[in-house]
Order: sequence, then C-alpha cells, then structure tokens
Amino acid sequence: MITINEEKCKRPLAISGGNPIRTVPLPWEFPGAYYINEEESQLIQTVIHHKSPFRYYGIDLQHMVDQLETAVCEKFSVPYAIAVNSGTSALYIALAAFGVGPSDEVLVPGYLWVSCVSAIVRLGAIPRLVDIDDTFCMDPEDLKNKISTHSKAIIFVHMSGATGHINEVKKIAQENQLFLLEDCAQSLGTTLNRQYVGTFGDMAIFSFQLNKNITSGEGGMIICRDKQLYQRCFACHDLGFSRTPSGRLDFSDTHCQLWGSGSRMSELTAAMALAQFKKLDKILHAMRESKSKIRQSLIHLEKLQFRRILDPLGDSSCFLITIYPSVELCQAFTLALVAEGIKGEKGSITCVPMSQWGLHWYFNIPSLVNKTSWCADGFPWSHPKNNFANLYTYAKGSLPCCDDYADRAALLTISSHLSDQDIIDIITAFHKVYFHLLKNTKDA
Ligand SMILES: *Cc1c(COP(=O)(O)O)cnc(C)c1O
Repeated sequence: MITINEEKCKRPLAISGGNPIRTVPLPWEFPGAYYINEEESQLIQTVIHHKSPFRYYGIDLQHMVDQLETAVCEKFSVPYAIAVNSGTSALYIALAAFGVGPSDEVLVPGYLWVSCVSAIVRLGAIPRLVDIDDTFCMDPEDLKNKISTHSKAIIFVHMSGATGHINEVKKIAQENQLFLLEDCAQSLGTTLNRQYVGTFGDMAIFSFQLNKNITSGEGGMIICRDKQLYQRCFACHDLGFSRTPSGRLDFSDTHCQLWGSGSRMSELTAAMALAQFKKLDKILHAMRESKSKIRQSLIHLEKLQFRRILDPLGDSSCFLITIYPSVELCQAFTLALVAEGIKGEKGSITCVPMSQWGLHWYFNIPSLVNKTSWCADGFPWSHPKNNFANLYTYAKGSLPCCDDYADRAALLTISSHLSDQDIIDIITAFHKVYFHLLKNTKDA
C-alpha cells in the first residue's frame, strides 16, 4: 500500500486557490499506443517489402491477416476468427449473420457505444434498451422485463474494461432462444473467473481503434464457434460470397449469396495489429498494476463508492469509475481533482464526470433519441413490421439506473504508461479532495 502525505491533503484545494498536487499532464489514454516500436515497424515493412498489402492474394503474400486470426483463435480457444476494418463493422456483420432485420428487436444496455445501436438500425431492426446494474453492464433482471416476442438477439457490452453478469445473461439468452453477441471492444483480454470475455456468447467482437487495449489505428475482429455463423460473417465482411483457398470468389454455396459490407482488413493493418496483439498481456499488466494500487489506496474512503468489479484480477483496468452521493458532489469532486492536476494533455479525456461521456449513454445519441433515418421513408422506424416499437422512446428518463449513474459517477482513465509518481499524485489528489469535499458530508 502506498502511504500518502496526510499533511499535504489538508492544504487548501487548488480549486480554492491552493497549490495543485501536480502540474505535469498525465499520459494519454491510448493503451496500445505507448507500446508501438520497431516490432510494428518491422512487420509493416515486411508487407511493404513484399509488395502485397491485400490479404487474399498478391505478388508475395505474407499472410499477416491469417496469422492474426490464428493468434486470436489460439488465445480464445475458438475455431473461427475474422479480421475486419473496425469494431463498428464487426457488430453490423455479426448481427447480419444472425439474420437480424425488420420485425426484430435487439436488446442493448443503455451504457454502450453508438456503434451497437447503428448496427441494429442499419439492418432494419429496433434497439430495445435494457438498464445496467452496479457493474455498469446489462442488468439481467431488467433484461427479463424487456424480452418480447420480437426479441432476436442480445448485445452484452463489456464496458470500460470489465464485465458484469454475463453468465446470468447467457442463461436468459438460452432460455429464450436468443442469440448472444458480446461486444468486447473495450475489454480485449478481460476475464471473469479466468474465462475470457468473448467466449461466453454465440459471437464476440473486438476493436483495435486507438482508444482500445491494443491498436492498429482502425481494425476489428469477430470470433465464433459455429461454422455456419462464421460462413455468413465471412460473406458479409467481404463481397457477400465465400472464397476459394486461393482467395478467389466462390459463388457455389447457395447459403452464401448475401450482401457484402466491404469490411476486410488489409495486410498493413494486420501487421500492426499482430505486433500489438503479442504485447496485449504486457499492456494489461501495466494497467492492472496501476489501477490496483490506486483502488487499494482509496477503498477505505467510506463515502467514495466504486463501480462493482466482479473479478478484479480479470479487469483489463483501463478505467476507474467512482460514484458520489449526489450530482453536485460528483461535479465538484471531479472539477477539484482536475484543478489538482489530475488531467492529461489538451484534448485528452482523463478525469470527467460521466455525464460528459458522450455517445456511451443512450440519451446522448441524437439519432436514436430522434429516431432518424438516412432516407425520406424513415426506415427502419417506419417499417410496418416495426410498428410494435412505435411507442419506444430513447430520451433520458428511459432507464433509471443509467440516468442515475450518468449523473453521479465519474471516470478516470488509467493510462498504460503511468509512472510511480503519477500514481502517487492521483492517490494524493483523491485523498486531498476527499478530505475537503466528501469526508464530512452528511449521508444522503
Ligand atoms: C469502440 C467501440 C466500438 C466500435 O469500434 P470501432 O473500431 O471504433 O468501430 C464498439 N463497441 C464499443 C463498446 C466500443 O467501445
């Protein structure tokens, strides 16, 4: 345990004119980025040197995408993986493989990312909101309330690096014969009782965008165990058809005459993602060490609550979520932390009230709240088979638990590159602000 300087904590808060705990910005919140080095360069150089940037054929193909998919299959002990160009594409493709369309609804948590919703709507289906619980993931109890005859699939989103009651949700999915898609974009490498997230459901998706645990700038992955789902994903990620072993289009399989989304991964992206994937455990180790030190040093602060983490050892640890007695205290506490220097470079998101967490909350997605369409017809909201959803609303006020946490919770990104001094400063700042703003508040 880290011992903090008690006397320092009693000095005036920086927000009231005192001296801040630190003045140097904290590192950026891009876990994989700090680990980019010659290994990424070398693999990318290999692709360039061999003049073969396309995955299915080329002058002298180096099979970077194949190697990446194989590495992913091995790590998760699954037979199938398909690399794609983004997590957003991956979600769309996975739902298309399930056969989601008009008259279907897909159950999603209210704390999510806009891509989950856009995938559903672009397929002509209806998003059905489910509340979260204190794990900040889908609440199995509310899920039971929301399932209807139109329900086709559930997207369980492992949010902010950790998971929730995925086993309970899996059971409900099975009992109701619903597909279960795991969105692991924010939790590559996260485990629950030693089982990797992404291996509970029918399919799972990952993202390699800059903010995720590893990065190739853009990129994504779909994994599954079922051969037919795999074949449908394959067709949808490409041009709508399967391919021969030599990488040429194959129209012979009548089950795979679908519509493609042009979401293939290039050899260049795969080269970078492959180098990063090999560093995943190292990156997770750094964040886990830092977060555990910070959490351990704050856990005894009675009036500070934390997001419930079911398995702290399995938390990929990219975020620390704290919960306050009121909206006002949450705002004041966070502003005071920022004033103490708990912030990053200009443009970074390091320490914010979760109300400012943008498209992660259902009610912050204007196209969802306003049920917009990209065509004059108003599809899919106007589709006759979607009439059942006419009364669904998506404005704030639809999910009590989400609404409450959005107001009372704050988020600190745990960089993969924190120094011991950074960690001490974060802990000291929390103690200092706690002493001044929270310690002596009356219980709510
Ligand atoms: C980032 C993210 C995605 C989308 O991934 P991209 O690669 O950015 O398209 C999907 N779901 C969640 C939960 C995410 O955080």
